[in-house]
Parts: sequence; structure tokens; C-alpha cells
Amino acid sequence: MDLSVADARSPILGLAPQALPGEGYRKEQIAHWLYARGVREWSEMTDLPKGLRQELAEKYRVSEFAHVAPFVSQDGAVKYLYTLWDGQKTEAVYMPYAGRKTICISSMVGCPAGCTFCATGKMGFGRNLTAAEILDQILFAAHHQGHSPREIRNVVLMGMGEPLLNLNHVLEAIRRMLDPQGLAMSPRRITLSTVGIPRGIYRLAQEDLGVRLALSLHAPDDQTRQKIIPTAHRYSIAEIMEAVRHYYAQTKRRVTLEYTLLKGLNDHPWQARALAGLLAGLSAHVNLIPWNPWEGAPHQGTGKEKILAFAAALERMGIPVSVRWSRGRDVGAACGQLALQQPA
Ligand code: SF4
Repeated sequence: MDLSVADARSPILGLAPQALPGEGYRKEQIAHWLYARGVREWSEMTDLPKGLRQELAEKYRVSEFAHVAPFVSQDGAVKYLYTLWDGQKTEAVYMPYAGRKTICISSMVGCPAGCTFCATGKMGFGRNLTAAEILDQILFAAHHQGHSPREIRNVVLMGMGEPLLNLNHVLEAIRRMLDPQGLAMSPRRITLSTVGIPRGIYRLAQEDLGVRLALSLHAPDDQTRQKIIPTAHRYSIAEIMEAVRHYYAQTKRRVTLEYTLLKGLNDHPWQARALAGLLAGLSAHVNLIPWNPWEGAPHQGTGKEKILAFAAALERMGIPVSVRWSRGRDVGAACGQLALQQPA
């Protein structure tokens, strides 16, 4: 990247409303332009005096990206490849489902969790994203789609990275999403997905933001799970489930369990039974994810028939379950495929 274009100004996104520059109602005007109108240039904030706009433009940047490349999938999903001001890259996926515009955003460049089925995990860890960089993934996509940022009604923190290992920045970004002067979102529309970092789950429960928690479980037994998530040996499933039960008790929010089905590894009938056993007494919903292939992956996906049989087995045991057929496979935008590649 050409560093001569790097933007050394301070980020404006992510600041709490009271920390925005200007006096009294000017702060509200700025927040409105940024989060309700979604403008990306100081010059467009036409109800601010010209002198103030110039002053702000010298000190603060509105955009967190030096460059953005959108890739449109045949099914309507759009993958955004964002180049940050230091030349690092991250990604988000916009999904215009009927009536509910959803965006899956990243919390890091790369990811340290190293899940073997995931192309991001193979890249390793780059760095944490700032609150501004997390928020701007939503703002840019809305702008590019011709929407107000507030029209995006669902945010899932399920892209690159483990949000609970970048918790301070993630919490700051979520506060701006919830803020009436920010994106004014309902906490029920925000889902944070984790591989299961117990201390992060307890902290999230303590913060009491009311967001939904999704746990990437992928196996009901530690032995299989460690084959899928090598870093999972740090915490046992028992420890993680205790934290998840605590989160549910505190928030009364139904927890989602993510389960990517991998052929011959975690798709056996006994594993469906063990999974149902783990969830006894917990209000949880299981999302079964057919695995999305990428080049060089050490896995094969479970076939459609077996996926449906696994789902039916869970249902018979009283576990609410859905199969999440991913979008954006053709542009490398589906779950587990994000690896900063440009589609061929
Ligand atoms: S699945 Fe999620 S947690 Fe695992 S490596 Fe990929 S991005 Fe990281």
C-alpha cells in the first residue's frame, strides 16, 4: 500500500456521544450525520458552520478504510474487502435477506483461534480492530448499498476474529450500535459469536448489554472439539458451558450453538445425543452449518442427507435446530471462507 495516502487524523467513529467534538447540540448534530444519515465527508454535514467543518476535517477522519473492494455473490450477498489505514485487511459480508438486512462483521485482522475448518484460522492472527474499524464496516456497507446505517437491523460479530479476545474495543463498538444517538439498534439484533472464552463470557454477562451470544461448539466432546479447534484445549466444554449457562441466567437471552458438520468427525448419531445432553435445561438453539469448502482445507463436508438426519435426531430430543445454508459461497464470503482472497 502507498503509505503516502495513510490518514494520520484521529478516528471520529466509536467516540461516545459526549466525547464528540463541539459544544452541546453540535455533538448531537455530528452523531446524527455519522450514524443516522451515514455521510462519509465532513463537507456534507451542511448544518455545521463551514469553519467548524474545516476544523473537524483537519483533526478527524470519518472513514477507516484506505480502500474497499466489494464482491457481489450470485445469491445477493456482498463481501467487502476492507484495506485499513495501516495496509492490513479485514472483511465483512452484507446479506440482504428479505426484510432484514444483516451484516456479518469482523473484530480482528485474521484470527488466533485456528479452527481447522476455517480459512481465516489458517491465516493466523494479524491484529485487533479498533472500535472505529468495527463500526465502519457497517457504515460503509450501508452507504455503499444506498441505505441509512440504521436500516441495517442485524449485526453478527461472526466474521474474522474472536471478539472476546478483543473485548474492550468490541464493547465500545456495541455501545455505539445500541446508543440512541448511534445506530439505535435493539440488543436482540446483535449477536456475538465466540469459540468459548469463559472469562470473556462472564465479562459480557456483567456488562449487561443484552446482546445475543452464539457459541461455536462444533463438537459435544473435548477430544473431537480439539481436533477442530486446536486452541480449545485451554478450556473444557464443561467450563465453557458453565459460563454459557451463567450468561443465560443473567440475560435470559436464548443462546445459539453453532455446529459446522464435518464428514466422519462430528456428524455421528452419538454426537447428536451428546449434544442434546449438553443442552439439557438450557434455552438454546442449534444452528447446523454445512461446511463451506476452500482450497487446501483438511476436511470434507457432511452430505445433505446426513445433515438432515443429524438435525432430525436433535429435534426428536426436543432441541430447536435449524440448518444454515450459507450465502456467498461463490465469492468466498460464506462461513469459514473469509481469507482476504479476491474471488477468481
Ligand atoms: S471459525 Fe471463527 S474463531 Fe475459528 S478461526 Fe475462523 S474466524 Fe477464528
